[in-house]
Order: sequence, then structure tokens, then C-alpha cells
Amino acid sequence: MDQQSYKLVCISCGEEYPYSQILYRCARCGDLLECRIEPQEVFSLCSLSGRIQSMWRYRELLPSFFREIVTLEEGYTRLVKAERLAKMLGVRELYVKMEGLNPTGSFKDRGMSVGVSMAKTLGARQVVCASTGNTSASLAAYASRAGLKCSVYIPEGKIALGKLFQARMFGAKIYQVRGSFDEALKMVLETAGSQAYILNSVNPWRIEGQKTAAFELWEQTGGRTDYFVVLPVGNSGNIAAYWKGFKELLENGLISEAPRLIGVQAEGASPIVEVIARQLDYLPQWSNPETIATAIRIGRPINWKKGVRAIRESGGTAVRVSDEEILSALRLLASVEGIATEPAGSAPIAAVRKLVEDGKLGQDDRVICIATGNMLKDTREELVSWNVPQKT
Ligand SMILES: *Cc1c(COP(=O)(O)O)cnc(C)c1O
Ligand SMILES: [Zn+2]
Repeated sequence: MDQQSYKLVCISCGEEYPYSQILYRCARCGDLLECRIEPQEVFSLCSLSGRIQSMWRYRELLPSFFREIVTLEEGYTRLVKAERLAKMLGVRELYVKMEGLNPTGSFKDRGMSVGVSMAKTLGARQVVCASTGNTSASLAAYASRAGLKCSVYIPEGKIALGKLFQARMFGAKIYQVRGSFDEALKMVLETAGSQAYILNSVNPWRIEGQKTAAFELWEQTGGRTDYFVVLPVGNSGNIAAYWKGFKELLENGLISEAPRLIGVQAEGASPIVEVIARQLDYLPQWSNPETIATAIRIGRPINWKKGVRAIRESGGTAVRVSDEEILSALRLLASVEGIATEPAGSAPIAAVRKLVEDGKLGQDDRVICIATGNMLKDTREELVSWNVPQKT
């Protein structure tokens, strides 16, 4: 049944491991691992028509060795044109990728479908993650679907209530950690991971699922690549996933040039912006991450190397936006287009606004903003009632 060959490869030393090995870090040098696929054949724009309307339509570039695919028909989310907003912001075209329409309301479902299928295939009984909210909501749902036990570690008092509610509804065992996400992740990697399969984005199978969003942009734009993809960055797994997807389209001759990726971070949690702006080859210390966009409230992005590579190799950039700018963008998108997101999901709109002001984007540019999470995740009163100074 194996139509493709898959392996795990270290992003630093190139050491290779069989795909079925449970490994989160290179055994030789300790760096991140990446899934590498050599497909036998690949889809084309034509061959995709009529296939299932989920991310599993791209089956040639997804694992074919699973004993059972754990899916809620995630992915294949809408790409909505925002004409009024494009005009107001001063770009040629603006589209919003509605990742909040996934089964549990965020793009995390793409990664969990592949990751939990892998857990089943490996014979795991239990799965675990640390989370700023959406990862735990998603893992809890897919674990239920797969009949696996699930525990989640979250920073106490720092996750949006809707997300906590989801994890509880899906029956996860919840550990509230005093400290930030970074401390919660450390706990999972150092202790909880010994009894359970870890499904944070350090697990390369998560990225493998999330890369399908790039295939969708390619398909939904009819094979074009002349746009910027703008997305919020926390652990920087997702931006790495988009880049992986575009690179595979390149490798398989489906595109000849990849779009440029723009990573957006909140001012209070922006180590990746620091790395890009100062051309660092290390991650600067960032001990007290703080932002209203809890999904990206991360000081030590575990996938920073992959994320930084994605930005550099694509010829993109990284942008920092303030909480006020995020809130103002959230309300602008809502009031002008009838689309709302959780705060992190509107950070790309804030970034586009800023890049236009700085003369780095303009009337010639097409942009796709990734609305990563659903508005109903986070319904804090201050998101609608704060007095945000309006920019002109
Ligand atoms: C997880 C998440 C992010 C950040 O993605 P990373 O892969 O951690 O960079 C952004 N927005 C939302 C809504 C998320 O759930
Ligand atoms: Zn290595």
C-alpha cells in the first residue's frame, strides 16, 4: 500500500530516521526533525476536481501508511475576497483564509488529523500537549474521535475561555501551569512525554498536516503565486508548514516561484521579529511574553529555526504589531467585511496596514491574510468595548 516513501530528517545535520520512530529531536545533534516525502506521483489542478473537500484531497503528499485516518474533514477552508478592506488599506487585492471554519475553530485541526492518525498507527494510548488554547481544544477533539486519552498543559488564567471550554467538553485532563506557555511546554517535554505521545508542533507530523493550507491557496487561486501570505507567528510551526507546502509544490513542478511569507508577532512576544530584523543566528532571550492575542503569547518559539528559514528563504519579512493595532484591525475587519477572528487571527490585517503605511506594500500588491482562529474562541468584553484610537 505504500505509494510514497517517508522519512524523518534532521534540519541541521541531515541525519535520517525511519518515519515510524517516535522521536521529537535529532538523536545526534538535538535539533528539530522534518518529515520528508518522496511521492510516486502528484496531483494537478485538474486531477483534484471531484475529490473529498477536506485537506485529505492532497493525498499524494500526505502519509499513505496510516492504519486509520482520524479526521473531522478539516481543511479546504474558504478564501474570501475582501474588496472594501483592500481599498481602505491601499492594496490591490486582499483575501482572508477562513481557518476559523475548521472543525474546532482553528488551523490546528489540520496538524491534529495527521498527528493523531500517527499516534493511532504507533499504538499510543495517550496523547499530550502544552497549549495556549487552540492546540488543546483540537487535540482533545481528535483524541475523542480516536478513542485516546488526552492531557493538556495550559498556562493558568492565560487561555481564552472558549478554548478551555472545548478541552473540557471533549474530556481532556487539564493541568493548569503557573507560568507561561513556555513553562508548560517544558513540563510536557521533560516529564509528561514519557507516558504519552506528544502533539506539540515540535512533532513534525503536525507540520505535515498544516502544510496543506499552502496547497489550498495554490488551488484556490488557480495556481497563482503572485501574492504575499501574511500570518500570525507564535511557536512558528504554522509559517514553517506553509513554506514546506510551497516548497513541495516547487519540487513537484506545480509552481515555478513561491509566494513570500510575512510573519506577524505581537510587540510583547516578538523574538522572531528580532531574529529577522537583526539577522541573528540564535533566539534572543524573551522571558515575559505578553499580549492580548493569547494564541501567540510565546517567548521561546520551539520551531524558531524552521520559521526563520521560511521567512528568509521565501524572501519575506517579519512584522511587529501592538495590542492596540491588533484590536483596531480586528474591529476594522469585523465592521467592514463582516468577518471576525480571535485576536491573533487579525494580527495579519494590522501588519498589512502597517506595511502600507511604511510604503512596503501598496497598490500593486496582492495579499492573503490567514485568519487563524474563530472569533467565538475569545469573547472577552474588552475586545469590543475598549476605546481604540482610530488611525486615519
Ligand atoms: C497556534 C496559533 C497561532 C500560532 O501558530 P504557530 O504555529 O504557533 O506559530 C496563531 N493563531 C492562532 C489562532 C493559533 O491557534
Ligand atoms: Zn541532527
